[in-house]
Amino acid sequence: MFTLDLKGKSGLVLGVANKRSLAWAIARDLHAAGAHLAFTYQSERLKEKVEPLLAEIGGAPLYECDVADDARVDAVFAAAAADLGGRLDYLVHSIAFAPREELDGNFLDTSREGFRIALDVSAYSFIRTARSFVAHVGPDGGSLLTLTYLASERVVPKYNVMGSAKAALEHAVRQLASELGERRIRVNAISAGPVSTLSARGIAGFTDILGHYREKAPMRRNIEPEEVGKAALFLLSEMGSGITGEVLHVDCGFHIMAV
Ligand code: NAP
Repeated sequence: MFTLDLKGKSGLVLGVANKRSLAWAIARDLHAAGAHLAFTYQSERLKEKVEPLLAEIGGAPLYECDVADDARVDAVFAAAAADLGGRLDYLVHSIAFAPREELDGNFLDTSREGFRIALDVSAYSFIRTARSFVAHVGPDGGSLLTLTYLASERVVPKYNVMGSAKAALEHAVRQLASELGERRIRVNAISAGPVSTLSARGIAGFTDILGHYREKAPMRRNIEPEEVGKAALFLLSEMGSGITGEVLHVDCGFHIMAV
């Protein structure tokens, strides 16, 4: 018999923009299971959205962090480890960005700069934050989780360069899992079905994508953010102790369908 109790565990959550963020659904479940959490925000505007949410879980350390700034990333991980009792057990990386003009029009017209930014913020940042995490992980190892999307493996019109970024991200999950396994550090991803969040609404035709999933997914519905939270809890915690390098689809089965 196994009981899920994360008391004494600590984690840093990157990517809560507001109450609809997938990172927030994950954080709520980690908190409910007893984990001690810290959070980051990217801009002052978002700090105002995040602070009231943290009050709902009794408060938590909150740091400004743009993942494109290496020095800041290192400083934030050091501060989080110190504030959470000296080490980190979990990292939730729930961050993606591409310039809006790259998420409409043709992939053929992807700009060099748009490609660079999308891959830097959405994929390289996972490698870079993993490095900072490893510097503060305890002797018992730890667990990392990132969020990806089916456009890494199949063509989703208008998702364009973000599909390239997600393919790079999923490769990074496998490569990091292979390098960090001996240190008892597991690395996994959740490939979520579409959820109406701030970032997702920036994709042209996102409402049509939601409808398409409802129609075609075996379960004939869209996922709820809470379902990503539950799967994250499973992968991050001892429940997923034998799993690393995995991309787990939480999409009501949509990814298995050919037509
Ligand atoms: P969200 O609430 O908008 O979260 C995205 C987060 O990324 C925001 O907090 C955003 O902050 C942050 N971010 C972007 N650039 C950053 C940077 N340079 N430094 C630090 N943070 C930065 O949207 P979400 O849907 O929950 O997205 C979370 C993850 O889930 C993403 O990787 C996304 O691709 C993935 N995902 C989402 C869906 C979906 O349908 N929603 C499906 C599959 C996968 P700012 O707002 O300040 O930019």
